[in-house]
Amino acid sequence: MKKSILLFITVMTGMVLAACGGAEEQENDKLQVVTSFSILGDLAEQVAGDRANVEYLVPIGEEPHEYEAVPSDFRKVSDADVFYVNGFGLEEWLERLVQNTGDVSIVSVSDGVTPLPIAGEEGEDPHAWLDVTNVITYVENIRDDLIERDPEGTEEYQANAEAYIQELEELHAWIQAEVERIDERVIAVSENAFQYFGEQYGFETYGIWELNSHEEGTPGQIAALVDIVKDRNLPAVFVETTVDSRYMETVARDAGVDIAGEVYTDAVGLEGSGAETYIKMMEHNVNTFVSGLKR
Ligand SMILES: [Zn+2]
Repeated sequence: MKKSILLFITVMTGMVLAACGGAEEQENDKLQVVTSFSILGDLAEQVAGDRANVEYLVPIGEEPHEYEAVPSDFRKVSDADVFYVNGFGLEEWLERLVQNTGDVSIVSVSDGVTPLPIAGEEGEDPHAWLDVTNVITYVENIRDDLIERDPEGTEEYQANAEAYIQELEELHAWIQAEVERIDERVIAVSENAFQYFGEQYGFETYGIWELNSHEEGTPGQIAALVDIVKDRNLPAVFVETTVDSRYMETVARDAGVDIAGEVYTDAVGLEGSGAETYIKMMEHNVNTFVSGLKR
């Protein structure tokens, strides 16, 4: 109860400040876009350019599956013109957030992407963005939505999207060429997030667990992955930037292999990481897979 009163005050204060603000008022003339996590934030920024303020909710370094929204998130969403989400069950916390934020439009940017099932479980695997061709669909959805909301910016949104899609097509072709350097394409990580990537670029993928929201890391789950690493004689395993590395350290030790590096699945990298954008994080991942798995 106390929490919701505090939240109400926070929201009201934000509205009053926005109403009085001079410089802030100008900023507020722009389209206000909020996305659920940083990867969608980058995609939205690429398409929106200077015509919108883009913010994301889940901080870099945290994973979006079980994120607990904080009071400032409610304010961001209630001030926004549109809230972009991934869909496919990623934003399990979203329903709670929306109940408290009135009538903001929520747009699922994965519309038109064919979902993969979660291996051995009910439901859809949300990690569609790890296949570059799906991200082209995300970008087209964002472009079409921005044009509908802000028709004056049509030419700019179209030009930005076209230039960015060109870069994504180049990235896709580069990944296809790079992975040719690996004979046995098998990815072992904590969360089995690379299924879409694997389908597209010819990798088998394994995790200790299937989804972070089902994270357990039981001795049985760890032993099962150790067996796969040994049976397949894999040269290396990998760990995600958004998962506690101790689980994979145990797998690597028990299987007698190295952790060949960190990969990005559920967030872009921090400033200075070299993986601050979607394109950079994908390049980093592919370079890490190639150097770790090449014999
Ligand atoms: Zn994930």
